[in-house]
Amino acid sequence: MQYVSTRGHSATPSFSEILLGGLAPDGGLYLPQQYPQVSGAELDQWRTLSYADLAFQVLRKFATDIPESDLKALAHKTYGADVYCNARAGDDAGQITPLRTLEQKDGSKLVLQALSNGPTLAFKDMAMQLLGNLFEYALAKKGAELNIVGATSGDTGSAAEYAMRGKKGIRVFMLSPHKKMSAFQTAQMFSLQDPNIFNIAVEGVFDDCQDIVKAISNDLDYKAAKKVGTVNSINWARVVAQVVYYFRGYLAATDSNEQKVSFTVPSGNFGNICAGHIARMMGLPIDKLVVATNENDVLDEFFRTGVYRVRKSAETYHTSSPSMDISKASNFERFVYDLLGRDSARVKALFGKVESAGGFDLTGQPGSDGDEFASVIKYGFASGRSTHDDRLATIRFAQENYGITVDTHTADGIKVARENLTPGVTMIVLETALPAKFNETIREALGRDADRPAGFENIESLAQRFEVMPADAERIKAYVAEHTGL
Ligand SMILES: *Cc1c(COP(=O)(O)O)cnc(C)c1O
Repeated sequence: MQYVSTRGHSATPSFSEILLGGLAPDGGLYLPQQYPQVSGAELDQWRTLSYADLAFQVLRKFATDIPESDLKALAHKTYGADVYCNARAGDDAGQITPLRTLEQKDGSKLVLQALSNGPTLAFKDMAMQLLGNLFEYALAKKGAELNIVGATSGDTGSAAEYAMRGKKGIRVFMLSPHKKMSAFQTAQMFSLQDPNIFNIAVEGVFDDCQDIVKAISNDLDYKAAKKVGTVNSINWARVVAQVVYYFRGYLAATDSNEQKVSFTVPSGNFGNICAGHIARMMGLPIDKLVVATNENDVLDEFFRTGVYRVRKSAETYHTSSPSMDISKASNFERFVYDLLGRDSARVKALFGKVESAGGFDLTGQPGSDGDEFASVIKYGFASGRSTHDDRLATIRFAQENYGITVDTHTADGIKVARENLTPGVTMIVLETALPAKFNETIREALGRDADRPAGFENIESLAQRFEVMPADAERIKAYVAEHTGL
């Protein structure tokens, strides 16, 4: 399996070659040259597999340059029933991503797929935990080391730290805005005592953190000398790891391959739903892929109108589903590449236009950039948006009607899913976090606190380990250099 850049760069690297990198040299994103196909017979065989074995079957189609026995061991090390889930998931723990039926009406069924039983209570663990093991494996093979420098406003940083803690050859330097994260999120990250994890609380806002990471990424000499890398959501291995749970959800919700299933996905950077698109391209019988956004509705606007118009960071709303507060979806280019028939020259031109003119238009109207919006239907996409009031109403609705407390992002998903039900088709909503992480809004909606999962009762009172630093890229570069010894 060779990979290509969405912008047409001539090299065709292998899975292992793109594993530790980010963007392609031409600024594009990597995708497989062809999507591997899954036959009906194979799908039938996959019905009875454990999650770890299913993950291995999906991975081996993409990571063809890693020996199968190693890949299988990595899948089990990550998703073994005794490894990935703990007692929190109860009787269903062994299923890793158990389904729960929420409602049934007019021949359609609404189902929730739990993806938040990993160590940081958000779906990002599903991919990041595998990434930690893949990185450690790949670095050991090369005798190399990697220093991950990242910026976080909450979920990504903690998922990365819990995936990389204690891993040989890896250090994590995570920048977060000092005193701006919730007490729970701060405690999750700062209570880690592993010597390879460095929390840097920057005196500034999230954008300052991100600017410093960009400054470091742009200093190519420094980056090479200090072996600096990232783990952002464009990482291809993260997308592949997410493909697995679409197969799992489909197989658990159906008993024959004649049946179709739809998925609704609370979306920000388009990473999660991009994995659904890839599962569909591999032959998984998906009816609709429904993009759910919050007030930051760039993606909903595109899937309703065919106009992609990114927002400036000053126009990005801070909402109560903060992990979806994205103004420019970093994985969207992967879908557009397929939508445009894999025409990399046009992808390059359109995303150049995103930088120069803030967007592009595929409506086919006079003066537009193309007419491919008509084919969006062929790819089965639909969309919807949700507001703070919708979120509160949905959290209350789910409590009263389903007897469960859902987090704010999952609430956006449920709201949009209920607007997109098709008779006879099961709709699976992907749960992206547990409510304890976003307790302020739960209290606003229900007048009480969200339940704390076992093991998190006193997290705020644990000893914290972090360094407060000014928003100064040079000072932070010096700190990284000092602690890597490079
Ligand atoms: C990251 C995140 C999202 C958005 O996922 P994308 O892959 O960026 O679309 C949604 N909900 C939660 C809780 C998240 O952490």
